[in-house]
Amino acid sequence: MLMAVRYHTHFLEEGKWSDYMNEVEENNDCLFCKIVEKKIPADIVYESEDIIAFKDIEPKAPIHCLIIPKKHISTINDINGSNSNIIGLMYEAVAQLARSFNVDKDGYRVVMNCNSNGGQTVYHIHLHFLAGRRLSWPPG
Ligand code: AMP
Ligand code: ZN
Repeated sequence: MLMAVRYHTHFLEEGKWSDYMNEVEENNDCLFCKIVEKKIPADIVYESEDIIAFKDIEPKAPIHCLIIPKKHISTINDINGSNSNIIGLMYEAVAQLARSFNVDKDGYRVVMNCNSNGGQTVYHIHLHFLAGRRLSWPPG
């Protein structure tokens, strides 16, 4: 109980209480949080303490995986000094996946969509890892 009070006080002191509450509310209804919690099945291809990667259910290339932080972050707009380390960890996962799928030399594409104009449909940040064919540019 004391721990809980201290934890909450910390958030209040930092002025991050509302951020914290938003996160708790959003997590309840987030598809990718459910995949992290293993409540929804996924074909997991990489897992570390902070990151999980799994195959996209509707692949747009022969290899199409999604790399996500285990902690809920809704969009790129929510990246800040307190959580930006996760982006580096996501790219570490990319480099490892590229080697394990043997596409590091041929190449691949990594994309993160943001909000409606960017084409984001799941509001838990994720990198698309696309490989196995020549990808066109610019994107549509
Ligand atoms: P975005 O449109 O950038 O938000 O990407 C969301 C991606 O999640 C899409 O490529 C979907 O095909 C994929 N997706 C949605 N539901 C699942 C699921 N249950 N398992 C794996 N991938 C999913
Ligand atoms: Zn989530």
